[in-house]
Amino acid sequence: MDNQVLASPTPSDQNTSAELFRKMMLGVSVMCGFTHLAFLVLFHLNGIKDMAVINVGSILCYVLTFGLAWRHRVNWAWMLITTEVVGHAVLAVFYVGWDSGFHIYIMCVPPVMVVSTLPLWRGKVPVVVGLMALYLWLDVARRDAAPLFELDRSVLNGLHYFTVVTALTILVLLAGMYYRFVLQSEQQLREMATTDPLTRLRNRRSVLDTSVAEAVKQRRDGRPLSFILCDVDHFKTVNDTHGHEAGDDVLKAVAKILRSGVREVDHAARWGGEEFLLLLPETASPGAELVANRLREAIAALRVPGKDGPLNVTMTFGISNLHLDEPIDQAIARADKALYRGKHGGRNRVELATEDVLLRA
Ligand code: GH3
Ligand code: MG
Ligand code: MG
Repeated sequence: MDNQVLASPTPSDQNTSAELFRKMMLGVSVMCGFTHLAFLVLFHLNGIKDMAVINVGSILCYVLTFGLAWRHRVNWAWMLITTEVVGHAVLAVFYVGWDSGFHIYIMCVPPVMVVSTLPLWRGKVPVVVGLMALYLWLDVARRDAAPLFELDRSVLNGLHYFTVVTALTILVLLAGMYYRFVLQSEQQLREMATTDPLTRLRNRRSVLDTSVAEAVKQRRDGRPLSFILCDVDHFKTVNDTHGHEAGDDVLKAVAKILRSGVREVDHAARWGGEEFLLLLPETASPGAELVANRLREAIAALRVPGKDGPLNVTMTFGISNLHLDEPIDQAIARADKALYRGKHGGRNRVELATEDVLLRA
């Protein structure tokens, strides 16, 4: 019944934008660390010792930002990364010249700044505006200025294209990472919106949506659709006698039996409290009765471990079959009526909606 065991809707911070940004900072630290390692090798091979030393510092800086992000000091990590990228770019433009293309790295910062966890007006906006101003100033001041260290034209060209490729790659990876996180978070939210957190079954809204879709399909193909509404008997006594926690354990155990006791194409949902709804496509009343009786027996045989020994419960079931052109809620209301009759008839029973009994006769 895997289609009903939707992924655990953990109430953790796994899908918050802050957590997404933290993961992004971990990724950025690794990417930038390796990029600087490549620069270290490049500068070392070309005998530019100062820049090679600066790159050692940068690599250590990214080890630090990884550690900060790991320990959830995300804003510190991001501010340090911003400082490193911008400082390094400015230094490199002064040192080896505008044609090295190092200024391009500054352009990678604002898009990430926008999705950062820094405050808007006292963080993102001033930094982005400041970076634009810095970039323009650097362009005006250094485009035609002589660098402190003259590199061979061929080395400079190599550096330029390396910078272009790495900056574009970093941007593409960052966008891809962010997109994947957004998709994951969307999926988690969807699961949380359709899953009952206690039993992990579908919730009422989800099963109602599915019912509407199934009703359209079954009617179109002229096939029957059954509803089974079931309710734990004397559940209040379970709570009152053994405590709410034991009551929750019973609900989880009952949900497990309901979920595993129906076919893959069927749907099991928590309707509310200790009440559950089963939706059985392509199933007429006799088939649904059979399923309900099987489930009733399995639940009656259930022993839920508790503090004061094993707990046992029974359930009463009401069944209805969707009639032609009947609204879903009407069919469910008929199952509810049958359930009510079952309660009055002594509980631990399966009852069929009156109209369906007549139709069957
Ligand atoms: P009946 O046989 O007529 O159905 O009696 P009942 O005691 O089961 O029905 P009643 O409606 O009087 O009580 C239902 C109880 O279910 C009361 C409510 O506190 C409890 N309940 C509802 N949701 C939960 C839950 O999530 N966990 C626990 N432990 N109890 C719940
Ligand atoms: Mg009950
Ligand atoms: Mg009830």
